[in-house]
Amino acid sequence: MPTPQGKLRLLPLFRLRCPYCGSTPLRADGSWFYFRPGCKICDYVYEREPGYFTGASWMINYAALAGSGCMLGALLLVLLPNLDALWVAALVSVFLIIFGMWFIPYSMALWLGFDHLLHPLTQADRYRE
Ligand SMILES: [Zn+2]
Repeated sequence: MPTPQGKLRLLPLFRLRCPYCGSTPLRADGSWFYFRPGCKICDYVYEREPGYFTGASWMINYAALAGSGCMLGALLLVLLPNLDALWVAALVSVFLIIFGMWFIPYSMALWLGFDHLLHPLTQADRYRE
């Protein structure tokens, strides 16, 4: 069932599926970071313009990393008060590198979903191969 304009369905986004029809995978085959140009079922365009997903990095991924890094650092300092601050910084840094790489496609999917909510594509904007 297509997502109506002005609505946001989170489940397809967390499954990395098309924000409109919820069927087609967003990622290109064999890639963790790259998305397909569009959906072959509903013709929804994923990357609307060059640099489209830059906002996903700045507004979603960095915010998630900053929040989770601060929480993990605070948690380590509270639970392990004798742990050297350098170890806390090292552990948080390793966590942020791994979590940041893992979270990139999810931040891009959330960016797509919020854009669908705020600026749904018209029929003229649809993807055609
Ligand atoms: Zn679709």
